[in-house]
Amino acid sequence: MPTKEKARPKAKKSSYVAEFMAELRAKNPGEPEFHQAADEVAESLALVLEQRPVYRKFKVLERIAEPERVILFRVPWVDDKGEIQINKGYRVEMNSAIGPYKGGLRFHPTVYLGLLKFLAFEQVFKNALTTLPMGGGKGGSNFDPKGKSDLEVMHFTQSFMTELQRHIGPFTDVPAGDIGVGAREIGFMFGQYKRIKNEFTGVLTGKGLNWGGSLIRPEATGYGAVYFAAEMLSTRGETLEGKTCLVSGSGNVAQYAVEKIIDLGGKALTLSDSGGYIYDEAGIDRKKLAWIMELKNVQRGRIKEYADKFKGTVYTPVDPAKDYNPLWDHRADCAFPSATQNEINAQDAANLLQNGVYVVSEGANMPTVPEGVTQFIDAGILYGPGKAANAGGVATSGLEQSQNSLRLAWTREEVDSRLHGIMKAIHKQCVGAADQFGTPGNYVNGANIAGFLKVADSMLDQGVV
Ligand code: NAP
Repeated sequence: MPTKEKARPKAKKSSYVAEFMAELRAKNPGEPEFHQAADEVAESLALVLEQRPVYRKFKVLERIAEPERVILFRVPWVDDKGEIQINKGYRVEMNSAIGPYKGGLRFHPTVYLGLLKFLAFEQVFKNALTTLPMGGGKGGSNFDPKGKSDLEVMHFTQSFMTELQRHIGPFTDVPAGDIGVGAREIGFMFGQYKRIKNEFTGVLTGKGLNWGGSLIRPEATGYGAVYFAAEMLSTRGETLEGKTCLVSGSGNVAQYAVEKIIDLGGKALTLSDSGGYIYDEAGIDRKKLAWIMELKNVQRGRIKEYADKFKGTVYTPVDPAKDYNPLWDHRADCAFPSATQNEINAQDAANLLQNGVYVVSEGANMPTVPEGVTQFIDAGILYGPGKAANAGGVATSGLEQSQNSLRLAWTREEVDSRLHGIMKAIHKQCVGAADQFGTPGNYVNGANIAGFLKVADSMLDQGVV
């Protein structure tokens, strides 16, 4: 289900980038999110491509933008009423230059090929930044787990894996979770994979602790986004202590972003779901967060219920007539968008800046429209784009793979300290690449360039494949 492409403010494009984008749009019609993601990367790379013509000669960017393989399949299953349901299944294997394909599975009604191509494309650069040997991929289905019974989710995921298992493996492609795919779904898929293949391997990450999962993997994306914010703040000699934070979403990423904000002395004021958001002026403390985790991960309830439970909290339902999201219109220091793509529009970005927000660390993938990104960069705030700020999740998936290969399990402290070290390394690479190519402080350019160089140089080494 494509949405309208979010326009980038008019700037003079290099002719190479303009031609690249014209061709990409013509070859991939009706995929606006993919165009948006590719446009941002191409813009960042203009100077690199000019200074190092070898990448143009060997059409490296053009090859990165074409998936190595796309798998599309039927997912038939039977619901609780005995009715046959049919969903679409996908896996986009985007790039394997630096390691086996790696990236999440998303189950959401808005899933279509273009959305997964955008996510897989982003994943290639993100995974390169983690310092670990992982290629990029993404997959999923237009299946909506919301309102389905556990049995229905099991029937669907088993059918999904019955086909997907042909295409994945610990040395080929190792999927993980994303929106709509958490511990329950990974468990059902792992069980089906093991049953069909008759082998116990680390073919999925985000596994349960008893059967090959890693400590800190559930926490990693949210923790990582907050570690990244702390790194950005440290460049100005500041910490998160006492900072007020706006967080969107209330799923995996948002929950653990709030936990780490509390750990580092900050105060989280908001959380949301697709129905609306809560604003808690007193701040979401550990007790309230534990209640949210039970509500979302066990009861599978709605965030609205928070306002009934905790007095002094305001719930605001989504108003489709509004052209901005009031969640982003509160006074605060930091923002952690952790729900979905394009959730911060141009007006939201302006509201954030007007309300004093000067740190934005993206837990979600591409949550800010291009016009919003431009506003953040022009304002000189500390803006960490998703492919850097939320890379902690896939990095810890990589650590789960390492533990599986070694057949051992590291302690919580060991994994957390590796995650923290990786987020610092990602931050350093972004700062270094942004400096080297003449845009100091621009984490968008830094992330895109540093990720690209690693993949591009590997592709040059490996010939035209
Ligand atoms: P999740 O556990 O399924 O939670 C998603 C949250 O966002 C839910 O609160 C959901 O509300 C809300 N949401 C989803 N789509 C929405 C929409 N169209 N409008 C408004 N709210 C929406 O997923 P997650 O794993 O936290 O992922 C959140 C974001 O982080 C995604 O962009 C994902 O790609 C990115 N990310 C995740 C990981 C990871 O390790 N999980 C890693 C890197 C990046 P409802 O329940 O009402 O739908």
